Amino acid sequence: MSHHQTIYSSPVFQQACNQFDAAADILGMEAGLRERTKRPRRCVVVAMPVRMDSGKVELFEGYRVQHNLSTGPAKGGIRFHQDVTLGEVAALAMWMSWKCSLVGLPYGGAKGGVIVNARDMSATELERLSRRYMQEITPFIGPNVDIPAPDVGTNAQVMAWMMDTYSNHKGYYEPGVITGKPISLGGSLGRTEATGEGVAWFVKAYLEDMGVEAEKTTVIVQGFGNVGSEAARALYHWGAEITGISDFTGGIYNPKGIDLKAAAEYTAKNKSLKGFPGGEALTNEQLLEQPCTVLIPAALERVITAENAGKLKCRLIAEGANGPTTNEADQILSQRGDIQIIPDVLCNSGGVIVSYFEWLQNLQNYYWTKNEVFDKLHRMLAKAKASVDETQKKYNCSRRTAALVLGISRVSEAKAMRGLFP
Ligand code: NAD
Repeated sequence: MSHHQTIYSSPVFQQACNQFDAAADILGMEAGLRERTKRPRRCVVVAMPVRMDSGKVELFEGYRVQHNLSTGPAKGGIRFHQDVTLGEVAALAMWMSWKCSLVGLPYGGAKGGVIVNARDMSATELERLSRRYMQEITPFIGPNVDIPAPDVGTNAQVMAWMMDTYSNHKGYYEPGVITGKPISLGGSLGRTEATGEGVAWFVKAYLEDMGVEAEKTTVIVQGFGNVGSEAARALYHWGAEITGISDFTGGIYNPKGIDLKAAAEYTAKNKSLKGFPGGEALTNEQLLEQPCTVLIPAALERVITAENAGKLKCRLIAEGANGPTTNEADQILSQRGDIQIIPDVLCNSGGVIVSYFEWLQNLQNYYWTKNEVFDKLHRMLAKAKASVDETQKKYNCSRRTAALVLGISRVSEAKAMRGLFP
């Protein structure tokens, strides 16, 4: 597909395709199977007129890409961000396919996106847009078809509005249509923490393999949202020092450690970290290049690039975000050889794992304790790590390619066994 133009063509989609090809080469996948495993299955583009508080009507555009439906209902978050493109959503959907397959979930992969700066909207405007988006994708999703979840710019409240819209359409309460809901509406205990908790679990496990102790660990986190703040909190409780955090307004750096509670309170009150007094203000670009043990990109794609890969001063990159490292940066880092990477499809898989638990609890109308959730989560993470480590040794490849070899091979085998239709 790298040779063909598609509606998805874009730098981030090409990045995902190049990653796929490296894994497919190792697998010796034949051309026909390669193309249909790689290419997204289908997408919908929706136009959404929304009445703004001013009385004016604004038209928004949104997408839902279902990359793979061969291994179960599709699964993946919904992003609200001003820079969303169809190609980006397709790349994110592709990564969901490999991630679900890698950790052994009975799902395909999908992603959704709406071009909007949610920060500029009032709560009532955001509610109308969220409900309209769900209204438009209702014919294409469902608990057995495609189950959305939160991503950048969306949260439990947005999931609640969307679940309510879908349920009203059906005429009955259907919590299993979406995950990341509030606890009062069938959300799972531990889902808010899940992605960051999983990132922290992998960081601890790989640092242990590298022989680094908690007290000797400093951590810089780009993106102080759901994933970044929860990962920071979990690593702080483990004993690490969080020396840098950031959001869309810029970064805060403090080699003596940042007060996470104060930062969270400041962000809740001021809507961003801008002006937070707990450290030195840096740009996001500068923050990534500060010395630390662990660098956690937890915002958007393509922030570790050919420009800065040579300048990073960390020992471990834990990809909380999806697609933070460009293909060129991957190559530079591999040539450097002094920085390890925990790739996105492994590193942030805790989120979709607990989303799966939430869906199971909804389907069974039987709810688990937080201990049960975390215990089952940690077991699945440990199993995924062991299989990636073994595959990396077996093929003597990068950890990213090893994770993708596992994720991709399971999808392509299912497709080969099913035939041409799925
Ligand atoms: P979020 O909206 O809760 O937080 C995003 C954070 O990134 C915010 O602090 C925002 O200010 C910051 N940000 C936005 N633009 C930025 C920029 N240009 N530079 C620096 N920071 C910027 O989103 P989230 O759910 O935490 O998702 C973050 C990443 O993690 C995304 O890549 C997402 O796909 C991935 N992810 C999320 C989950 C999940 O469960 N939410 C699961 C797996 C992966």
